Amino acid sequence: MQISGTDLAKEIKAEVKQGVKDAVDRYGRPPHLVVILVGEDPASQSYVKGKGKDAEEVGFKSTTLRYPATISEEELLHIIRDLNKDDEVDGILVQLPLPSHIDEDKVIETIDQSKDVDGFHPANVAALWQKRPCTYPCTPKGIIKLLDKAGVDINGKRAVVIGRSNIVGLPVAKMLLDRNATVTIAHSKTTDLKKVASEADILVVAIGRPRFVTADMVKEGAAVIDVGVNRDPATGKLCGDVDFNEVAQIAGVITPVPGGVGPMTRACLMENTLECYLKNQESKI
Ligand code: NAP
Repeated sequence: MQISGTDLAKEIKAEVKQGVKDAVDRYGRPPHLVVILVGEDPASQSYVKGKGKDAEEVGFKSTTLRYPATISEEELLHIIRDLNKDDEVDGILVQLPLPSHIDEDKVIETIDQSKDVDGFHPANVAALWQKRPCTYPCTPKGIIKLLDKAGVDINGKRAVVIGRSNIVGLPVAKMLLDRNATVTIAHSKTTDLKKVASEADILVVAIGRPRFVTADMVKEGAAVIDVGVNRDPATGKLCGDVDFNEVAQIAGVITPVPGGVGPMTRACLMENTLECYLKNQESKI
């Protein structure tokens, strides 16, 4: 069975839209999401455009601030500090990656934790690992929602996450652990990857290699979540890290690319922005 991230994202955005209407009645203004784009990377431009479109669709005020790749780190930090102070800005997102002369960690740390809608701030990361209330990073949050929607019981299952990045692999592994899965994190130095992957009831793949995971790496009936966004070297079309046509024959549930994790990441960004707005408004009462 294919799990459609596009359909579930629509449901989440409809709920956020209703939440925005209620919030406007109660607090007099919609949430305001500011997205900062540095440089002209085509993929980043397209991601930022998508986020702006979704923000408008759910009724947020949406601002995209564009700066040339030559902007200095100090200038960018100054802009973020000003946005932190602005009472009418609820969410701040800096599109990554940034040009190499800008320290991404410094940029992420500068965003006020209460406006960190991406969930990348070190205080949010620490809270996630300490099981304290936090803003969950959007892609891992979307993955857990997809599994729940597909009726996959995570409790007690063997989960394997291939990839250990700070934004996907590590946090999704922690979130699966918190739902009582027994979790293995695999990476480029894992020697027996095929054996490890084929033992998974839940297999999450986030490596960035077109069709890397083949049917012989997947257990029959497994839930397979494909996070990868790649260009097929032969056709130039978008494809995931999983050989969808092959693996779909044996997986119990599988997410497509496009139309799986991608739209869920954006929907969870909208949900996080509304949550940050509500927390900030409630703290003022
Ligand atoms: P990343 O930071 O480049 O990390 C890639 C991970 O994959 C690393 O941990 C690396 O291992 C591991 N890896 C690479 N080659 C491997 C191999 N041959 N066998 C096993 N592990 C291998 O990537 P990321 O930011 O997590 O993103 C991963 C993919 O997800 C990319 O295609 C990205 O575009 C996509 N993505 C999609 C969304 C979405 O919303 N759909 C969001 C974020 C990312 P080492 O640690 O050992 O180097």
